Amino acid sequence: MPSSIVKKGIIFDVVKYAIHDGPGIRTTVFLKGCPLKCLWCQNPESQKPEPETVGRFRDRKFSAMFFGKDKGIIGHEFTVRQVMAEVRKDDIFYRYSGGGVTFSGGEPLMQSEFLLYLLKESKKHNIHTAVDTSGHAPWSALERIVKYVDLFLYDIKLMDDVEHERYTGVGSELVLSNLRKLAARGAKIVVRFPVITGITDRPENTRAIGTFLKGLKSIDTMHLLPYNYMCKDKYKRMKREYLLDDVEPPSDGILRSLSKKFGQYGLRVETGDLE
Ligand code: SF4
Repeated sequence: MPSSIVKKGIIFDVVKYAIHDGPGIRTTVFLKGCPLKCLWCQNPESQKPEPETVGRFRDRKFSAMFFGKDKGIIGHEFTVRQVMAEVRKDDIFYRYSGGGVTFSGGEPLMQSEFLLYLLKESKKHNIHTAVDTSGHAPWSALERIVKYVDLFLYDIKLMDDVEHERYTGVGSELVLSNLRKLAARGAKIVVRFPVITGITDRPENTRAIGTFLKGLKSIDTMHLLPYNYMCKDKYKRMKREYLLDDVEPPSDGILRSLSKKFGQYGLRVETGDLE
């Protein structure tokens, strides 16, 4: 038995029949751990790399893979083989819908070796693969996975290094340079832009993003992810302060105008959900 199949990683959720994380019907696997701390993070329980006990998350619905696991603990260890057994249960849906598996987080590249093995196994079984990433990872980690990834869902939040650090805890330089390198490799990339009213939708930021993406010829699609505060309760349960109390979700008008604006830079713009 190859050692890669018994490699273990920490997963905090698996969502079946996902339709917003790439083409067709998908299984989304959420790997725990993220180097960022975005103030609007919808999954604050994803940020710490290790399993954690967080308030009353017992009412949360988990996929069958978590049966028998302590529901009070977020994040459990699974092998590549266990994850793939769960993913492969829906092979037939992937085949008929053009779907596949999406590895998300947290930041899946925080567990880069585990992710690499999951991707290799998926490709071995001809499953379409997507990786949902913040782009904040060493280039060497991205370079190792690129040939096993059919689609990157790549977040661009704020262009300015200082502003990026202010709202996410890390600067933008690495994120932008990795995106340049991925695009130069001809990777298929959909850029995801969280629309956080008064923060990311400011004209100087959207202008800079539009100009930057226009220069990357292989990127032609952007998904707008409108801010919502559905995660507020999670912060309360985790006894963490929620700092965006004053921020309202963007209006339809704001989304329409952003769509038009990014369209002028040659991007095909769709609206999704901030999850
Ligand atoms: S990159 Fe994603 S998972 Fe990480 S803190 Fe930001 S929103 Fe949360």
